[in-house]
Amino acid sequence: KVRVRFAPSPTGGLHLGGVRTVLFNYLFARQHGGDFVLRIEDTDQSRYVEGAEQYILDCLQWCGITPDESPVAGGKYAPYRQSERKTIYRQYAEKLVMEGYAYYAFDTPEELDKNRKEIPNFQYGHAYRDTLRNSLNLPQHEVDQLLDAGTPHVIRIKMPVDEQVSFTDMIRGQVSFDTNQVDDKVLLKADGMPTYHLAVVVDDYLMKITHAFRGEEWLPSAPVHLLLWKYLGWYDDMPQWAHLPLILKPDGHGKLSKRDGARLGFPVFAMNWFDAKTGELTPGFRELGFLPQAFVNLLAMLGWNDGTEQEIFTMDELVQKFSIDRVSKAGAKFDFEKAKWYNAEWIKRSEAESLKPEVIAVLADKGVNAKDDQYLLTVIDLIKDRVTLLPDFYQQSVYFFEQPKEYDLAAVKPKWTDAKTDFFKEFMTKINSLTNYEAVELENTFKAFMEEKGFKMGDVMLPFRIMLVGGKFGPHVFDIAALLGKEETIKRIEGALV
Ligand code: GLU
Repeated sequence: KVRVRFAPSPTGGLHLGGVRTVLFNYLFARQHGGDFVLRIEDTDQSRYVEGAEQYILDCLQWCGITPDESPVAGGKYAPYRQSERKTIYRQYAEKLVMEGYAYYAFDTPEELDKNRKEIPNFQYGHAYRDTLRNSLNLPQHEVDQLLDAGTPHVIRIKMPVDEQVSFTDMIRGQVSFDTNQVDDKVLLKADGMPTYHLAVVVDDYLMKITHAFRGEEWLPSAPVHLLLWKYLGWYDDMPQWAHLPLILKPDGHGKLSKRDGARLGFPVFAMNWFDAKTGELTPGFRELGFLPQAFVNLLAMLGWNDGTEQEIFTMDELVQKFSIDRVSKAGAKFDFEKAKWYNAEWIKRSEAESLKPEVIAVLADKGVNAKDDQYLLTVIDLIKDRVTLLPDFYQQSVYFFEQPKEYDLAAVKPKWTDAKTDFFKEFMTKINSLTNYEAVELENTFKAFMEEKGFKMGDVMLPFRIMLVGGKFGPHVFDIAALLGKEETIKRIEGALV
């Protein structure tokens, strides 16, 4: 059975790349009738950030992604927080030491620092290994003494010398690494916690993960993981890996980083992330006014397409059509204008009914109390084509709920004449006598009267719009007037004429 996992470290908010990783895992699981596991990789206490796990849960929920197994949902392979699995890992690290694949290292941070400065290529395994205090260098009795004395130590993997390690990546095909270029990574830390490298392998094995989709930034770690799968005797159960392409800055130069958002003027996080420690707020797509469907859709298109021109996909369609063969190796440029286009499309295609709660919230935020009724639905239907981000609903609809406070007079003032004032005064009586106050009838009346008075469209139509709306925007002016109703239309003409 297909089993995939999203394995975030709770170190902050989720950026675009993180959520896309969740999405691809999830789509693959759904498509194959498999399980989607959320595992929190919180073994690095120094990078742990309060609130980050809840943020991840909220974010998945916002995106409409429900894990089958997670720290909150539980599951057959619980616990799903690595910090709660601490006792599991040591035995595997010890086993690796016993079998000669790993070793104890007793160096202090100061010793390491000193050597890093003095020894060329120190970072690579064998250069390091031959130098410092570790169980490969010291006689066994000294090692035993150090262990018995409770000397702080870590366990490191012993990278082989002059070997090639390779595997087949689902996206990249055959990938190879030279073991001489890979460090002897720490597997178990001095505090007894495993590092990511050990924990990810042990948990993927114990949780029976079959496929692992993760960001390209993890590719350099793959040789370490692969060797651990081998050394632990689990090689046949190793999941198939897919390293997803990077998400690049809009100009294609380099990876889009968490810090780029502020500089480039668009969000990089899924939702607002507030860092309690620094007091910093990193803005997110949700709060900027993206619909989750649009967000999911645009993420899916970062590095994938279905081979046709189709760009708008629902989650169900993505589940059906997603295929790993069509994920590109090359990085995907992020284009914020295009992202907004997705959102506008999704708003346009959404039923007024489903947008209603969002619109009510947007208006309430600005102190406008819109009742949940048919009128609101009609308003939404009339203007949703003009909205890109949810907060735009305010500007595009506020005049349906209250008289404009200001008029864009500059647009009409210079050409205003008494004849125009008279036109509107008389037009009000005409409106009053209309039995059928509907857009078509209103338009016919307006146009006939306009011709009778020798005015052109530009003379009176734009002023009429401004009287109703306050500015030069909005849908068909007679649709607006009809929806506002007879009394309100008259009231607004009167209000504007004084
Ligand atoms: N804990 C890693 C992260 O924070 C997971 C990488 C992986 O999926 O193997 O991204």
